[in-house]
Amino acid sequence: MYKIGLTGGIGSGKSKVADMFAQWGAAIVDTDVIAHELTAPGGAAIEPIRKQFGPDVIASTGALDRQAMRELVFESPQARHKLEAIIHPMIASVTRERAAQAQGCYLVFVVPLLVESLEHSSRWRDAVDRICVVDCDPATQVARVQARSGLTPEAIGRIMSAQASRAVRLAAADDVVLNDGQTTVDDLTSRSRALHEQWCALAQGRPGSFAGSGS
Ligand code: ADP
Repeated sequence: MYKIGLTGGIGSGKSKVADMFAQWGAAIVDTDVIAHELTAPGGAAIEPIRKQFGPDVIASTGALDRQAMRELVFESPQARHKLEAIIHPMIASVTRERAAQAQGCYLVFVVPLLVESLEHSSRWRDAVDRICVVDCDPATQVARVQARSGLTPEAIGRIMSAQASRAVRLAAADDVVLNDGQTTVDDLTSRSRALHEQWCALAQGRPGSFAGSGS
């Protein structure tokens, strides 16, 4: 299948764009959704995490206490590595399973930290035909995440500063969907639709109409 890696900073609009591609017939494998499933009550990562970090990072519901875990990994890179050693192989394995079963005109992997991962591994670059970045200005990212989650601007700023910068993300992109503060949902829909048409063409072996097509 023709494969796209879809990424963007927190609040950039990745999920919204992925929902549109799904509606138009693409298969979606979202690594963030998989991470949430693995850390939901009864999820496969819960017991290994409890064993590694103790009961304080597990909420009374049995789910990962994301806030407690976030605090812990912000304070300690070692804790972050230990968490990643548990969760990353599980996410990779479920991602592979779902990709193998996926059906659609092309396959979109939604990977929030795709660009960040390129620093230490070319896995995603090798796994996909194109990397698509949903691009947004930082102030709009903060406003959207604040409205969605109620996190403070400081907390959102901390998350954003641990992510790649807008420029670094754009430098890794084959395709860009601009979804900044000026972008209406109609604008976003037509920009996403244009990419969808081009990817469908490429997936069917027809030349797309990219400026740099054939690359
Ligand atoms: P991400 O998955 O990148 O974190 P989302 O797709 O969840 O971002 O978008 C963040 C929030 O902003 C959501 O509530 C979404 O509905 C809203 N949003 C995204 N793009 C736009 C837009 N162009 N206009 C209005 N709201 C938007």
